[in-house]
Parts: sequence; structure tokens; C-alpha cells
Amino acid sequence: MTCSSHALQKFPPPTEEGKANVSVKLKPEVFNPFTLSPLPEQTILDVLVDWVQNKRLFSPTAARGMVITDVTHEVAYCYRLETFTEHRSVCLRFEPQCKTSKATMSPKPAGEVQEPQPWKVPVTPAKMFHNQVLNYRLIHTDRVTGCSYCQEQKCVMCKACCASTRCKGEKMVPCMSLGQVCCEMCVGKGQMFYFKELQVDYRCHLDRYLLGVPGSIPEERISHAKGEILHNGLGQKVCPISTFSVEEVNAASWRMVRSSHSSCPQCRIIQQTSTEGSAKRRIRLWL
Ligand SMILES: [Zn+2]
Ligand SMILES: [Zn+2]
Repeated sequence: MTCSSHALQKFPPPTEEGKANVSVKLKPEVFNPFTLSPLPEQTILDVLVDWVQNKRLFSPTAARGMVITDVTHEVAYCYRLETFTEHRSVCLRFEPQCKTSKATMSPKPAGEVQEPQPWKVPVTPAKMFHNQVLNYRLIHTDRVTGCSYCQEQKCVMCKACCASTRCKGEKMVPCMSLGQVCCEMCVGKGQMFYFKELQVDYRCHLDRYLLGVPGSIPEERISHAKGEILHNGLGQKVCPISTFSVEEVNAASWRMVRSSHSSCPQCRIIQQTSTEGSAKRRIRLWL
């Protein structure tokens, strides 16, 4: 059965939910204590030897024999804000009218029953913080109309012979000399079955702020490095942090949260998580 779609109609969320709203907490946030304990020299040497083994110009033996005279620790801070949103739109779909189509038809004619409002249809994501698209056939949106392609004639002119009925022989038998072929659009039914489909698009947006990352280290490597979680936030809309000891992180948090609440007026925020101060360690060796 063929099934196609027409233009997509977008529906912004109800005003009170789409409105940007960054509240300021009265209570200070609680941060996990962070202690920068020194790494054992052997651990540092093991990492160094492991790294040297992948370099042609360096000798692992020489690396094993190196003597560490000093170690400098530096800390980088990472603030992550994940926003899980949903976007709803409705498209008009159609298929040839058949027995299964009739079974889903509304008993009342169009206009007498109210179509469901897109944002009032209960839909939940299969998994939070994962991109996904869900489609739902909306009830009370069924319409049956005549097929405009064949003008309800159920068949159209044969393009191979232009209705001259010369389609004969083994190679060209599209119309069997009838001059007409079955309408592909309605598969010979003469009528089309229209209905509306709700499309719910769930998206996960990640925003990240890194502070104290040396220019020689790619940000991607820092963000995947192990660190200590200093603060976690979870909510429909998280509040920005404001009492962390590093003011740049507070400012970035405020900027990112405010932006996330207003960047997509067509979307509704379902949930946000913020992870703050995931401290990474960079070690500078003096050999
Ligand atoms: Zn047709
Ligand atoms: Zn023909």
C-alpha cells in the first residue's frame, strides 16, 4: 500500500511551557569536596611508557629509565548542560482507500468531531536523552475523497502507447491493448483516504564549557578524561549555578541555561541535566 505525506504543519508548545524562565535560587548549591591528591610516580611512568610505545621516534626503554624531578598539577573545569526537547508537527498523509482504511474511519462526518490538539496527545519518549522520532495517527482526522490523479476513473491513460492500444507483444504489455492502465495513486480504487499524522521529534542538545584547558590539548580529549563530579543538577528546567568558587563557571552556567530556555521557541523542554566542575587533571613533568 502506498502512503505519502503532504506539507508539514508545525505547532509551537503552549505559551506557558515554551516561555523562557531562568529563576535564581535563594539557597547556595552544594558542591562535592575536591582534593587534588598527587599521583604516584609509578603511575605517571606507566602512562608515559604506554604513550611512547605508539611513537616511532621514542624509545620505551629510555622512557622507563627517566627520573621525574618535579610534577605540576593543573585543573580544568567542565560544565555540561544537556537539554532534552520535543517538537511536534502534523502532516497530512494519504493512502488508497481499502478495507483497513474503512475500519479506522470516524463514525461521524468531518467537522462534527473535534480533532485532537497536537500538544494534548499523550506521548512519552521511549528513552530519555536519546534522539528519536515517534509518529502517531491522529483519530477523528479521517477523510475520503476522490482520487485527483485519475479523477475517480480508477485507471489512467497508458503512457507506453498513449491510449493508441498498440501495447502488444511480449516486451510491451502494460495495458494489454486496452489503452489504459490501473491508477497507481489509488491502486484502482478511485478514492483516496486522508488522515493526519502527529510527528513528535525528541532531540538531545549538549552544551559544554571548558575552563583552564591548555591550548595544546584538544577539548575533546579533556571532556572524555576522567574527573570528579562536583555538582549535579536535574529538573524540567535546571537553575544555573551561582555559588561555585570559580566565577567564570558561574557566568558560563547562567549564560548557557538562559540560552537553552529561549533558543528554540518551537520546542518544549522535557528535562535538563547539568554536570558541573568535572575536574580534569593535567600533569606537567620535569624530567
Ligand atoms: Zn486514482
Ligand atoms: Zn498501452
